[in-house]
Amino acid sequence: MSNTESHTDIIIAGGGMVGAALACALAEQGFSIALLERREPTEDWPQDSHDIRVSAISRASQNIFSRLQAWPGMVRRRVTPYEQMCVWESSGAEIHFHAADIGEPDLGHIIENRIIQIALWEQLRALDNIDIHCPASISGLDLDENAPRVVLNNGTQLSTSLVVAADGARSSLRELAGISTGGWGYDQTAVVCTVRAEKGNQATCWQRFMTHGPLALLPMDDDLFSIVWSTTPEQAQELTEMPAGDFDEALTRASEERLGRLELQGERGAFPLRLQHAKQYIKPGLALVGDAAHVIHPLAGQGVNLGLLDMAELTDVLVRARGKGHPLGSLHTLRLYERARKGENIAMQGSMDLFKRVFSNDLPPLKIIRNLGMGVTERLLPVKNLLIRNAMGTLGDVPSLARSFHE
Ligand SMILES: Cc1cc2nc3c(=O)[nH]c(=O)nc-3n(C[C@H](O)[C@H](O)[C@H](O)COP(=O)(O)OP(=O)(O)OC[C@H]3O[C@@H](n4cnc5c(N)ncnc54)[C@H](O)[C@@H]3O)c2cc1C
Repeated sequence: MSNTESHTDIIIAGGGMVGAALACALAEQGFSIALLERREPTEDWPQDSHDIRVSAISRASQNIFSRLQAWPGMVRRRVTPYEQMCVWESSGAEIHFHAADIGEPDLGHIIENRIIQIALWEQLRALDNIDIHCPASISGLDLDENAPRVVLNNGTQLSTSLVVAADGARSSLRELAGISTGGWGYDQTAVVCTVRAEKGNQATCWQRFMTHGPLALLPMDDDLFSIVWSTTPEQAQELTEMPAGDFDEALTRASEERLGRLELQGERGAFPLRLQHAKQYIKPGLALVGDAAHVIHPLAGQGVNLGLLDMAELTDVLVRARGKGHPLGSLHTLRLYERARKGENIAMQGSMDLFKRVFSNDLPPLKIIRNLGMGVTERLLPVKNLLIRNAMGTLGDVPSLARSFHE
């Protein structure tokens, strides 16, 4: 297709986890969609390999995937439920969360990012009101409340009622729209990889807070964990470059041997960490979702979960606007989305930032407060239960797609 002009109700740029879920949701609501993605996801990985990028998926996100009928495709490939969470720091303070305490079968699932994406693409490829442009890159954006337009590098021109940027932290659509971001680098890098644990995974997520940053061990398969080790850029470089045997030693020591000896399986990756928030989520004819709008510290594994709540909220707002005959791209419509999501995302981003600061500090008064805080929380079941429900994303007024099936 070249230089032709076609019109769809909504253009979504980015078919990652958030953009692909949004395309499925809106197409299932009867909107016509153009989905633009740079790289086509393909399931060409060896059966016994594991993606080093994984996500801790909350119950709210699981509900979204289930309602989009993508959940069975994920389960068929590989999802790992976890029933417990253990958070500790070297001083001895420790806190445990159990699914059984709140009458749930699990607290969430660990899923490889490539599995989430491919299962969503399987769904969206089956919907005939989605035009997929892939590989596509965007060379121009003309924002207009009534008729925004996007131009692709191959000259294709697309007109629409609303453009959604789901093209990740370095969103080029956000840049083309002139929306700036605020934030800062954490001076931390996350080292990620898969490891085998001598004591098996025990269906438990483990997280140890250390001065340079948290070490998270997320269970996968029987005795495998995906690790996210946030530390200084210098130590991260050492950890990714040292021989595998030395890495095993360092990791086993950092985990205080809670899982026995840990052994690297395959490659290591490193991701510099930053906090980033778009100054605005909307402009006439444009909305930002997912990492294009906000990037948070991975210590509580909430990034994609927040992005999925964005897409679920935007779906509700657009369905309501259509029902009332309001234009999809008007500021009047889009403000409802921004109002519902921006405050929530800033609150989560702020609490993760505070956590990161409080736990990466060896000042004695802070250590005492941390120990007291963890000790008290460990003994107060109602507070613990509230924390768990909050992390599961099912507290409060959640968008329709994310609601529990019992409501
Ligand atoms: C180390 C680490 C661990 C994490 N762990 C967790 C976790 O446990 N739980 C959790 O919830 N979150 C976690 N996150 C965060 C999570 O990975 C992100 O929030 C999530 O990937 C954002 O999804 P997205 O779809 O918004 O963006 P992305 O995943 O970045 O997807 C963007 C898509 O847009 C495409 N694209 C980009 N530019 C263009 C363009 N110009 N045109 C067309 N397409 C384009 C890309 O190819 C990609 O497919 C973690 C992050 C890190 C760094």
